[in-house]
Amino acid sequence: MKLVKTVSASGEYTLVINETWCKGCRICVDLCPKQVLAMVEAPDRWEGAIAKVTAMEACNGCEICEVECPDFAISVTAPQKKKSPKAAEVNK
Ligand code: SF4
Ligand code: SF4
Repeated sequence: MKLVKTVSASGEYTLVINETWCKGCRICVDLCPKQVLAMVEAPDRWEGAIAKVTAMEACNGCEICEVECPDFAISVTAPQKKKSPKAAEVNK
């Protein structure tokens, strides 16, 4: 299992992508409101690309990526007050 951890410059948010589980569907890339994520070529994978963090400084900790990833490949650590209503509902 390959876990890639990125911490925001402030140290407030941490995002972990499990690259082993990522199937390259790009849902997280399309839904992230801050364009934090991008698809990056991965020639060694049958999908051809996987999600990577490319602009962690823009992350607002909304957790949409974590909630919407169908493969549970993203985990976000953020203060409770920053959670989106949808993420908060899922985490009840
Ligand atoms: S939504 Fe999940 S499986 Fe799809 S690209 Fe993003 S991390 Fe990978
Ligand atoms: S927590 Fe929100 S802003 Fe940060 S990467 Fe995920 S969807 Fe984008």
